[in-house]
Amino acid sequence: MKGIKQMTKKYVYGFSEGNKDQKDLLGGKGANLAEMTNLGLPVPPGFTITTEACRAYLGQGETPETLDVEVTAAIRMVETEMGKKLGNPADPLLMSVRSGAKFSMPGMMETVLNIGLNDDSVHGLAKQSGNERFAWDSYRRLIQMFGKTVMDIDGDLFADALHGLQKRKGYAGDLDMTTQDLQQLVVEYKEIVKTATGVDFPQEPRKQLDMAVEAVFRSWNTDRARLYRRREHIPNSLGTAVNVQTMVFGNMGEGSGTGVCFTRDPSTGHSGVYGDYLENAQGEDVVSGIRNTLSLADLEKIDKKSYDELRAIMDKLEVHYRDMCDIEFTIQRGKLWMLQTRVGKRTASAAFRIADQLVAERLITRDEAVTRVTGDQLTSLLFPQFDRKAEKKLITKGMPASPGAAVGEIVLNNSQAVERTQAGASVILVRSETNPDDLQGMVVASGVLTARGGKTSHAAVVARGMGRCCVVGVDDLVVDEEAGTVYVKSQDTTYHAGDTIAIDGSTGEVFEGKVPVTDSPVKTYIAKGLEAGLEAAGDDDTRELVEAVDHIMTRADDKRELVVRANADTPEDARRAREFGAQGIGLCRTEHMFLGDRRKLIEQVILAKDKSEQEEAFKALVPLQEGDFVGIFDAMDGMTVTVRLIDPPLHEFLPNLTDLSVQLAVKEAKGEKVTAEETELLQKVRQMHEQNPMLGLRGVRLGLKLPGLIKLQVRAIANAAAKLKKQGRDPRPEIMVPLIGSVREMQIVRDMALEIISEVSAETGVELDIPIGNMIELPRAAVTADHIAPESDFFSFGTNDLTQTTWGFSRDDVESSFFDEYFDYSVFGTSPFESIDTHGVGAMVQMGTERGRKANPNIHVGVCGEHGGDPASIHFFAEIGLDYVSCSPFRVPVARLEAGRAAISNESELALERGAERNTTA
Ligand code: PEP
Ligand code: MG
Repeated sequence: MKGIKQMTKKYVYGFSEGNKDQKDLLGGKGANLAEMTNLGLPVPPGFTITTEACRAYLGQGETPETLDVEVTAAIRMVETEMGKKLGNPADPLLMSVRSGAKFSMPGMMETVLNIGLNDDSVHGLAKQSGNERFAWDSYRRLIQMFGKTVMDIDGDLFADALHGLQKRKGYAGDLDMTTQDLQQLVVEYKEIVKTATGVDFPQEPRKQLDMAVEAVFRSWNTDRARLYRRREHIPNSLGTAVNVQTMVFGNMGEGSGTGVCFTRDPSTGHSGVYGDYLENAQGEDVVSGIRNTLSLADLEKIDKKSYDELRAIMDKLEVHYRDMCDIEFTIQRGKLWMLQTRVGKRTASAAFRIADQLVAERLITRDEAVTRVTGDQLTSLLFPQFDRKAEKKLITKGMPASPGAAVGEIVLNNSQAVERTQAGASVILVRSETNPDDLQGMVVASGVLTARGGKTSHAAVVARGMGRCCVVGVDDLVVDEEAGTVYVKSQDTTYHAGDTIAIDGSTGEVFEGKVPVTDSPVKTYIAKGLEAGLEAAGDDDTRELVEAVDHIMTRADDKRELVVRANADTPEDARRAREFGAQGIGLCRTEHMFLGDRRKLIEQVILAKDKSEQEEAFKALVPLQEGDFVGIFDAMDGMTVTVRLIDPPLHEFLPNLTDLSVQLAVKEAKGEKVTAEETELLQKVRQMHEQNPMLGLRGVRLGLKLPGLIKLQVRAIANAAAKLKKQGRDPRPEIMVPLIGSVREMQIVRDMALEIISEVSAETGVELDIPIGNMIELPRAAVTADHIAPESDFFSFGTNDLTQTTWGFSRDDVESSFFDEYFDYSVFGTSPFESIDTHGVGAMVQMGTERGRKANPNIHVGVCGEHGGDPASIHFFAEIGLDYVSCSPFRVPVARLEAGRAAISNESELALERGAERNTTA
């Protein structure tokens, strides 16, 4: 464009240039480092390379051209600030290079520390630090980390060299190694690099830095990172930022150390000092859980000055972020440095309690409290717990790291975990400590148990993020993966892979055998009210939780505009849904009402030689169906029950074609007589067989082909309503026609139904007003909604079928055949069957709603596909102004909460943005 100067993109931001709201561009870590820098906290100087640079690198296979120059300028700035130079042999500036994506992905990507060391500057570091051993240890760590993550050398080669040396010298561990040993190790490590790659370990600091940055970019796409993102619904397309920061050392001997802390207890929400500290250690040592840690209270004894400063910073951060923060810090020779902060991950129960506490402390409003918790967190609080009254055999106890109750067989590695769960077993993954490669096992396991590590160890952080029950730091355990055993020292007992144990992530207890589970107090509260919930709670902590949930749910219910109904087909489900707060049944599927004994009658309908035979079968079905509906309408007295007319292809009620053919062939072969009925049945089954039943004779099409079928259903609905009304009850049925594509279909069925309803009304003398509406499951229905709406009292979007028909793929076939590739290529971030594809299917819903309402302003519009219970989708539906969502009974509380959150946050843009990020196909 003439006259407008081409703006070059800015790929590098100094820490003082950003802020906490720039997570998209700077990643979570970078944005928060910037925020802390601007708050005046002691943050080691550095800069962030943006996610945009990463995306460019991953797209083009090379870094953007201007990045090089920007990095040079940023390094100069840091050098000036520190009064040191990268690569200065006398006094080198050393830097760390760390990943930092928008959403935290703990341990999934790479980090390289001590960039800037080489054969010369290691001497300078030794002199400056006055600690030769430290300098050589730092250098060997650099070669090891760099070799493994940047140069792709098998990490075991380095580990073997290290252990070999220790073994030769008879050492117990790292700390026994002398300066000479470390120098020797540096020589060996460099040889490993040369042998494995054919090139020398790069001595030039800037080259080290550039290579490390690219390696971090690439680590976005490792298998484990991809797996983690898939699980956490993080889009592949985001990329990671890279933080380059001046090194500070927690391993400079006495007076140095490193730690992780939370401004409140992330498992209970209790305020107070909460964290782990390791003396004379680098950051990675704490998180990896390799060494057991001290508590922060111990730090107060060791270094009161740093402790006090840290406490003051913790208070400042909590007030600034108005939320619980987690913090990584390092103390280098008595000087405190802040390495990271963010709004901390927390357990579900802590999320509710913290939000409620912050309201009580007047740090946030009641509305904000609702937005601070999620439907997924509520779901995890509804899971069963161990029965407090059951007899249990306690084996040992560790640290409760992520709550829940898990029972399963012991597995000792990923492959066992996957194998056993595929065989249908529930498993507990038992490890010495976990590392990022254990992710796959953690995903499939019901619970995770580790011998080492603190509450901030990898296992704990990842498990909390996944809502997986987890107990860590059970010193009492000796896990021997090779032997397949777990030895409990205090009991002198050995358990084997395959033995059943139970772990309690809220208490840290480990039990032998299968411990029975009961309803959680939160579930009791949801189903039976506050008093019952408090009674079930048992202790003060849990009572506090139940109260917090009550405060937040009450507020969400007050605020939400979406009505929440449930999908239920039986009186029991209907009652459960009602207990959970459903305001009606949005989808009562009727197909199961034709199975069992009744299948024969359907067979008779299909095989009938003439109309009268068919009529007989219909007549016989009416009272049976009527009984079904009486039960459901009665359970939902005073509330809407939307009954969907029969939907699936009729042949689903007939014997399977292959089975029947084989059966008859065998009969014939044995010389037995095949009856005329049997032959006829086979013929009919063959005749009705469809290549694509999903797109075949189903839904409203059945009604046009076999009107008697839907007439019988309408009659049963009307009879049931009349019967209950006569008893003084208040039944409120609606009739819903599935798979409508054209207004003509709707007119025909509607006329049929109205005729039957007025017949029943005349027969019974009961006035009946039964709304008749339709599902929108086909693009054609959404497009022609303005034609259909005048003939319809309500629209219910069947987003399951609408997703299938909009994308043109059948769910049963595609999920296992090519979805993996679709995730890999970022066609979508989440399955469109789980979370609404806003750009495609969502747009259909929006268009159908708008067109429908224009033609019929009174039309009531909702969703009854699975998406009705999915948090992100609910936000979208609230956004486009639907009247209700309907979901499975268990998800009703979640939908209530999410609908409240949607209303409060007024998250129009956010919801769309979230949808756009997740389902990226535009
Ligand atoms: C739908 O298609 O979204 C729906 C609710 O119907 P079903 O899942 O029964 O096909
Ligand atoms: Mg459907």
